[in-house]
Amino acid sequence: MNVAALLDWYTAAQRPLPWRLEVSAYRTLVSELMCQQTRIDTVLPYFARFLAEFPTEAALAAAPTERVLELWSGLGYYSRARNLQKAAQAVVAQGGFPRTIEGLRALPGVGPYTAGAIASIAFGVDAPVVDGNVERVLARWYAEERPAKAWLWSTAESLLPSGQAGAYNQALMELGATVCTPRGPKCLVCPVREGCGGVGAPERYPAAKEKKAVPRSRAVAAWIVRDGAALLVRRPEGGLLGGLWELPGGEGADAAALAAVLRRRIGAAVAAAEARGDVAHTFSHLHLDTTVFAASLAEEPTLAEDVRWVALADIDGMALSTLARKTLRVAREAR
Ligand code: SF4
Repeated sequence: MNVAALLDWYTAAQRPLPWRLEVSAYRTLVSELMCQQTRIDTVLPYFARFLAEFPTEAALAAAPTERVLELWSGLGYYSRARNLQKAAQAVVAQGGFPRTIEGLRALPGVGPYTAGAIASIAFGVDAPVVDGNVERVLARWYAEERPAKAWLWSTAESLLPSGQAGAYNQALMELGATVCTPRGPKCLVCPVREGCGGVGAPERYPAAKEKKAVPRSRAVAAWIVRDGAALLVRRPEGGLLGGLWELPGGEGADAAALAAVLRRRIGAAVAAAEARGDVAHTFSHLHLDTTVFAASLAEEPTLAEDVRWVALADIDGMALSTLARKTLRVAREAR
């Protein structure tokens, strides 16, 4: 592969992303964790808000976790936000970012890919990275239908121009994101077209991985409003969407299930419940269909740290998952 041509192309064609315009280990870490499983267009406003409030690892390390989750709210995969803060705390405790792959990999939430990205982009270490974009470019260029992980890493390393790892890694990723795209790659304008084994049938490489069937499940949620406030609950730490706020609810499909769930969760009987709409949401492991009820209670709920009346005007600023936001939209439309 003509790596010099790749680097020239990258210099001219790269998108002016905020973490490229001003480079630091902290900004690289935040951008890499935000971009995992998430489109760059979606990440951009989150990155700007996050950096405005937490401009340094010290600011992030000292922040309340609740506030970190609020700024992450809607990005999904919330363990990334928790790990990001834990990583910042570890960096502060060590007096700065480690500059080796091993040191970076010891930080919470930092795997081989993120460690390689920080080491090469922020510190100029000659370390390769392999993400989905790099995998696709290399698989096509070498016409490998089923490239093994070890082959991908060693191939990326063998092409790496010493002293230019940051630009090289980003160039390969950028090529995969903008030219050698999953569908409809633009081979005619590709800077590494010469010698590429994928030209003619690029989409053959790499072969599609078999998708696992995702199970479906049903849930119920209650919109309970009184005196300009709605009842919200916080999910337990550690589990799915841990620490985020949502309407009270749980597994089930009808008003009877809702009554049982609310008695368990908030210690109160339901006086009336009327279904107002359904919300479909897909996690990586589950399709969840949630029926939203407008409900009233026959008795006072048991309030606690994780069960609160929240003023209607304050709800949107809370740490809510995308599912909770969808549920709230249906609940409010029904008012
Ligand atoms: S020539 Fe086509 S298949 Fe080969 S790397 Fe470029 S875009 Fe991908």
